[in-house]
Amino acid sequence: MNVRLVSISAAIALAAVCVYADTTALIPVPQEMSLTGGTCPKNALVRYERNSSLPEEGYELVVGEDCVIIRASGKAGEFYGRVTLDQIKAGAKNGLIPCLSIKDAPRFRWRGILLDESRHFFGKEAVKRLLGQMAKYKFNRFHWHLTDDQGWRIDVPGYPELIKYGAVRSQSVKRNEKATKGGQEDAGKLNGEKYGPYFYTEEDLKEIIAYAAARHIQVVPEIDLPGHLYAALAAYPEYACFPENLARRDPRLVWGVERDVLCAGNDDAIKFVDGVLDYVCRVFPGDVVHIGGDEVRRDRWKECPKCQSRIKKERLGGEDGLQAWITSHCYGFLASRGKRTIGWDGYIAGKVPAAAIGMSSHAVKDDAGLKQFAPAEYAKRGHDLVMCPSSLCYLDHGQGLREDPCFYIGHTMPLSKCYSFDPCAGIPENLRQHILGGQGNNWTEYTWSVSELEWKMWPRSFALAEVLWTYPDPARRDFAEFSARAAEHRRRMIANHINCAPLK
Ligand SMILES: [Zn+2]
Repeated sequence: MNVRLVSISAAIALAAVCVYADTTALIPVPQEMSLTGGTCPKNALVRYERNSSLPEEGYELVVGEDCVIIRASGKAGEFYGRVTLDQIKAGAKNGLIPCLSIKDAPRFRWRGILLDESRHFFGKEAVKRLLGQMAKYKFNRFHWHLTDDQGWRIDVPGYPELIKYGAVRSQSVKRNEKATKGGQEDAGKLNGEKYGPYFYTEEDLKEIIAYAAARHIQVVPEIDLPGHLYAALAAYPEYACFPENLARRDPRLVWGVERDVLCAGNDDAIKFVDGVLDYVCRVFPGDVVHIGGDEVRRDRWKECPKCQSRIKKERLGGEDGLQAWITSHCYGFLASRGKRTIGWDGYIAGKVPAAAIGMSSHAVKDDAGLKQFAPAEYAKRGHDLVMCPSSLCYLDHGQGLREDPCFYIGHTMPLSKCYSFDPCAGIPENLRQHILGGQGNNWTEYTWSVSELEWKMWPRSFALAEVLWTYPDPARRDFAEFSARAAEHRRRMIANHINCAPLK
């Protein structure tokens, strides 16, 4: 009986043999797998064994001729062992699966998917459907973008206006149109249709959090501030620098970066932020809260007497210092509730605690024209990072297909490009412990339905799942070999009524 030990690099060398594509077609491919010869009935008894020496999410899977063993140190590893077994069973032939031995553990601890429900709202059943798909590919962080300029999606006790005004827009940008500027310039591109109110109750949130937890997925809520907060300011104009700008009490109708932001010089506005974060900390049990921090235009802060007074009193040196001040405030608030703070990387450009985590989209300047540093620079300062460069991880970018029914924000990010994603690119060896992982981002300005969402996510998230779990040697990845497995997974998805774009 031939025992063939296949490490991940060897798997790439064996691409022509296509071991995985022909037999198990696993995504993400395990760190080590050996086919031990023979077959096993696919419904053979599964025995679970505890082995405390295995890493938290790691597992060993042995398929013998009449029984299956899953070894893990705890529930998470056991879960991932079962996920792998389910994929093997999905490829069973005549009710039989190949005998094999797998030793596996993830390279990165943050393997995320972001869903933006501010721009478009999909609802509880859609979110559960997405979580179910994520779990099958071993993603473990659901980054939930719940608030932005165009909509506020959670009902915070004590702030009823957030839902009354923030969860509904009087109209939106027409389907398949681009509008970002606002005012008369884009007036012809609005559809005249009321959108919402759409939001989640506390009961909904708890249901989704529990559904995710059962699949070993932590929900990371994002309350984007002090910019990208226009929907909340429409509800409470008094927390903006110039309340008269919010007189319509309507969230921002077009896309793009808004000038009106939180008045960081107003103590009542800071109390409001604390109130929202306090609620988020109570409802979401995870250890991380995302506070956005991106694209904070300085226009209003420059003109606002309260903001200028704060800058002077606290000796912040200018508007950049004011952002660092509010970041540090939120950081302190969240730390007092036992949470770590994460935000888009520009939010750590100033002087903020090193334990604040950055989420890096790799832009040198963000869309508000603010300077950002390279990820290696943040890591050098001691910040942990989650990598999601827009050119490799933004799933609202085009797929490079000849025919595509979906509408995209622009740029082209084919499957092969996603598969080239290296979260550690440009990070010196001695700083790589700061790279927590990465994620795929579903921004939804141009995504209206669940079916479009899935088409944009898959198959590209197969590639992200494998990069983040297995981290195959970036220099030796074999896209053709991966594609063969991805094609099989696409076939299975479609059979399960999940939308998935063609590979090419
Ligand atoms: Zn102000």
